[in-house]
Amino acid sequence: MSLRHPSHKRLAGWLDTGDVDEGLETHVEQCTRCADELERIAGDDAPFDSALSMVLEPTPGLEDRMAVRLAAAMRNRELLMSMFGSAAQTAKILFDPPDATT
Ligand SMILES: [Zn+2]
Repeated sequence: MSLRHPSHKRLAGWLDTGDVDEGLETHVEQCTRCADELERIAGDDAPFDSALSMVLEPTPGLEDRMAVRLAAAMRNRELLMSMFGSAAQTAKILFDPPDATT
C-alpha cells in the first residue's frame, strides 16, 4: 500500500471522470481515510450516482475495475446510511407517537 494519500483534486477527478487510476484504486481500497474522503466528495455533488450507473451498464473489462473502485465507497455509504436510518427512526419515535392520530 502506498503511504501517500492522493490529493483531493485527484480523488474528485477520478470520481468525476471515471478514468482508470490503478494507483489510486489500490490505495482507496485499503485506506479508510481516502475512502471516507471519496464519500464526502461523492456526497457533495453526487458523481457517485454517475459512477454507479456505469456499474449497472458495464462494458467488457470495466466491471471488475468499477466493482473494486466502488467497494470502499459503498462500505462507507452503507455505514452512513445505517447511521441516518437510526436517526430517522429515533426522530419518528420522538415526533410521531403511535397514538398521535386518535
Ligand atoms: Zn489514503
